[in-house]
Amino acid sequence: MSERRRAVARIDDGAFRRNVARVAGEAPRTELCAVVKADGYGHGAVGSARAALAGGATWLAVATAAEAISIRDAGIDARLIVLGALSDSELPEALACDVDLVVWREHQVARIAALGGARLHVKLDTGMGRLGTRDAEEASRVATAAATTATTTLAGLMTHFATADERGDRFFSEQLERFRAWALPLRERHPQALLHAANSAALLRDPASHFDLVRPGVALYGMDPFGEDPDEHRLEPVLRVESYVAEVKPCVAGESVGYGRRFVAGGATWVATVPVGYGDGWRRALSGVGHVLVRGRRFPIVGAVSMDNVTLDLGPDGAGVLVGDEAVLLGSQGAERILAEHVAEEIGTINYEVTCGLGSRIPRVHEGVG
Ligand SMILES: *Cc1c(COP(=O)(O)O)cnc(C)c1O
Repeated sequence: MSERRRAVARIDDGAFRRNVARVAGEAPRTELCAVVKADGYGHGAVGSARAALAGGATWLAVATAAEAISIRDAGIDARLIVLGALSDSELPEALACDVDLVVWREHQVARIAALGGARLHVKLDTGMGRLGTRDAEEASRVATAAATTATTTLAGLMTHFATADERGDRFFSEQLERFRAWALPLRERHPQALLHAANSAALLRDPASHFDLVRPGVALYGMDPFGEDPDEHRLEPVLRVESYVAEVKPCVAGESVGYGRRFVAGGATWVATVPVGYGDGWRRALSGVGHVLVRGRRFPIVGAVSMDNVTLDLGPDGAGVLVGDEAVLLGSQGAERILAEHVAEEIGTINYEVTCGLGSRIPRVHEGVG
């Protein structure tokens, strides 16, 4: 039996800190708000928050009240903004965490005031079409309400880009222009309000989007917001997902592997089983298209990914793979590496979804090396 753990996700906090410093260097005159929503894009929210603050971030951002609670429960007292919508039951929970909140309707300001108040950021919807108001006059009225209501303060004026990751796209500039036309004159009246708009892609793409504070997420985790190789922006992947080879067996021509017999050996080969599956977030869509590293080589996933296992075709000579060998599903081994960008490409999604989908069954181990 192997001494190895079934599966573990190692988070290199040193690499994370270097990514924070690298991204901060692109926007040297602004404050950096590290986005740690969705459990730090699957990397663990609390560990990522600590590494971000160590790397120079001064703010943190989450999406939900429960996420705010977990940051505060960990004893982290940095400035924290909740970016997402809050239901009636979440709102008092969030307020109890001393958070900054996002608003765009006057009744939201009144309700927050009635619950004791908070620092508020008014969101203009310049084209994302989700949260925020598209009406600049309404956004200005909400800003006035936030600034003049006794228990609330106007802490920020913000927007969010829909196409910052599509290079050369003109809609990005239109959104930026709409935001400037609204926020710059308003700041004359409210000089304490921080202007913020940039996600990772905007931050790396256009300094005109930086304003007073930037809100990068994905780049801090060493993933490329444009879906390219993170090396191009000198970003280091932070996550390594490791498991081990639990079984190796020969397969003669005609023998099949896995549910539905989706793989039938055309000739003699060897098959390895790695005990990670869609129950861990290793998506079934990777059946027949994904790869896993063993002994520094890249092997194709064959047959159906099941809940607890994937199977690899080692080829007719078995490649010297033995039970107990380390298997790397994400990260590097020897000279080979599997990036979240590669996995995303294989199943037609984005790098964000690959790491956010990593299941809770895989423990996150933060390693402060580097
Ligand atoms: C998630 C999010 C971000 C961070 O986006 P990345 O693309 O991960 O950098 C910034 N702002 C808002 C409002 C968000 O929801």
